[in-house]
Amino acid sequence: MTQQRYRKANPLIATLKQQGIQNLDVLNAIASIPRDQFIAEALAHKAYQNTALPIGQGQTISQPYIVAKMTEELLEMPQKPQRVLEIGTGCGYQTAILATLFNEIYSLERIQSLQFNAKRKLHALDLYNVSMKHGDGWRGWKSKAPFDAIIVTAAAATLPETLLAQLSEHGRLVIPLGTTTQHLYTFDKHKDKVTTTRLEEVKFVPLVEGDIQF
Ligand code: SAH
Repeated sequence: MTQQRYRKANPLIATLKQQGIQNLDVLNAIASIPRDQFIAEALAHKAYQNTALPIGQGQTISQPYIVAKMTEELLEMPQKPQRVLEIGTGCGYQTAILATLFNEIYSLERIQSLQFNAKRKLHALDLYNVSMKHGDGWRGWKSKAPFDAIIVTAAAATLPETLLAQLSEHGRLVIPLGTTTQHLYTFDKHKDKVTTTRLEEVKFVPLVEGDIQF
């Protein structure tokens, strides 16, 4: 990791701290992953701003704050998750952050071209603990379940029950829910019971049903 990248990320890290992100592992991960490499060159000058940016196909790279917040929700579980499923790979930025922090990452994306690009980016960063699949996140990834944590990076209109079913006995689902107004939620499984917590208001692209190929 170059000193130059640290310098570029420094104001962003300060902003995230101001916004309440305290977990040092998350902040270090954000400082170490080059966000500029996940977006088009024409937008690279905005890479270390705390904003979502377009990545093509009508999709976005998430705002660093929300990437940090959702990751923090996973790191604050009583037991650190080993196997994490991400729904909505997009450009692979959140995937890269997860790959630096957790042992095994699984990531699903419904737009195949985005998934291909994301795979290349992760390999370029020597991150090989990620399995990716082109598919519909509403269905989860049954053959690889159960997961200790599932993180959904697109907003679902209703709770995808299939994802809850693919959580391990003490697993956590972090997901934005809603349409015009969306909130971030966590669902914690305790064997047969589920505890729901509503967190802050958020703005995500929708979790669309069905996969497509272009
Ligand atoms: N994790 C990304 C955010 C990507 S935006 C980041 O780090 O910036 C959300 C992504 O979810 C988009 O790429 C979109 O194509 C994908 N998506 C939407 N609905 C989906 C579905 N049903 N299954 C899988 N991916 C989906």
